[in-house]
Amino acid sequence: MPHTPLASNVESEYRRLPALDALLRRAEVALLVAELGVGREAVAEAARALLGEARAAIAGGAAAPAEAWWPAALAARLQEQEQPALRRVINATGVILHTNLGRAPLSRAALHAAANAAQGYSNLEYTLEAGARGSRHDHPRALLQRLTGAEDALVVNNNAAAVYLMLAALCAGREVLISRGQLVEIGGGFRIPDVLRQSGATLVEVGTTNRTYTEDFARAITPSTAAILRVHASNFRQLGFVAEPPLAELAALAHGGASGRKLLLLDDLGSGALVDTTRYGLAPEPMPAASLDAGADLVSFSGDKLVGGPQAGLIVGRAALVDTLRRHPLARALRVDKLTLAALDATLRAWAAGRAARELPIWRMIAAPAEELLGRAAAWQATLQRSGFAAEVWAGESAVGGGSLPGETLPTWLLALLPAGGVDAAAAALRRAQPPVVCRIQNDRLLFDPRTVAEEEEPLLLAALLSLLAASTAAEGSSS
Ligand SMILES: *Cc1c(COP(=O)(O)O)cnc(C)c1O
Repeated sequence: MPHTPLASNVESEYRRLPALDALLRRAEVALLVAELGVGREAVAEAARALLGEARAAIAGGAAAPAEAWWPAALAARLQEQEQPALRRVINATGVILHTNLGRAPLSRAALHAAANAAQGYSNLEYTLEAGARGSRHDHPRALLQRLTGAEDALVVNNNAAAVYLMLAALCAGREVLISRGQLVEIGGGFRIPDVLRQSGATLVEVGTTNRTYTEDFARAITPSTAAILRVHASNFRQLGFVAEPPLAELAALAHGGASGRKLLLLDDLGSGALVDTTRYGLAPEPMPAASLDAGADLVSFSGDKLVGGPQAGLIVGRAALVDTLRRHPLARALRVDKLTLAALDATLRAWAAGRAARELPIWRMIAAPAEELLGRAAAWQATLQRSGFAAEVWAGESAVGGGSLPGETLPTWLLALLPAGGVDAAAAALRRAQPPVVCRIQNDRLLFDPRTVAEEEEPLLLAALLSLLAASTAAEGSSS
């Protein structure tokens, strides 16, 4: 509010506030209602809220806003209210599986499948051949069998749910052996020891933080041991004097080697690559088929990490065990909805048809050649320079992220900006842009990585950058 009048003016300031009806009848407001397509009641409510705030401000000594202020303030308030809670964001950070920004963007085919399933009715739990009740669990089975060689498969809400279900359904009341080097926190408070406790299983720690041997597991087996759990160290890497037993050795032990007892071998892979990641210049990431081949009874992995699909927890392995999971009451609580099943089906189909690298956004980003990224960063620089703004192109690194391939980076090219007024204020302004832009701050520069920016997002990104630079230059000019 413009200025602070004397207290004696309070009554006259109140009188300068428009009446609600008069405000709603103003031509600018009527236009606004038509433009935003909001109902009269919503406009009236926003106007009432603004009037209430203005009254409170006057009581605190402020002046009444000018007449011209009201329609603009009302428009801003309504636009704010019309924003969906979950908004599209431009990810210029170069972190491909950015957990805070929603991990894997879906392919066109997956989007189309989800929209199609959502738009009408579907055969979610209905067999069209028999015209009888079916199971939602039947849909992803065949593709997951084909892609991993598993006897059977089950899909639940996410990989955290998959691990929890395996432990609760198969190990509750009994002991589960796990290496001390794998008692990890995945992020967002998902800690393996806590999940084990919640599932009703008893955690038995084996070995040491840096070195654990098959012998350590063998010595820990008791009559109440149910399983050996291996957890992939997704988001960190141990270097130096370290050892973990190969999965095949654990399988031999679990399946009646030295102990003479049958234990389950459960393998939580985290990301679970469906392709050999070394083909992309990355470190090897464990593959579900290889785990099953090595003797794991059940393998779990995420749908929205390196699989590149919707959030889901994929469990593959022995048919009898998968069946036990499917019949457990928790399976109902952890089940996926039709949108997820449709999007996952389209994603797995791309893998099965050998189209994943071309079709799935995260794999296109991983595979983007450095010279293509250099071309895009240079084109962004040229666009800004044509409008009179300085920008640089720097060599840098993109990350796979999302609890996959820790420390693994891909060489990239970055647009680097040094906005007047400081990087923090500029980054905050970009987060307020429409759509919001999230970037990296490093060496006192804003860095924008083309790898995670879709080509159709480029005009929006450049518009946000141009308006940021114009605003910060104007502010600089007026303050000097
Ligand atoms: C990411 C991860 C999880 C959790 O998976 P969500 O799909 O995020 O629930 C569990 N275990 C490991 C090893 C992981 O990397």
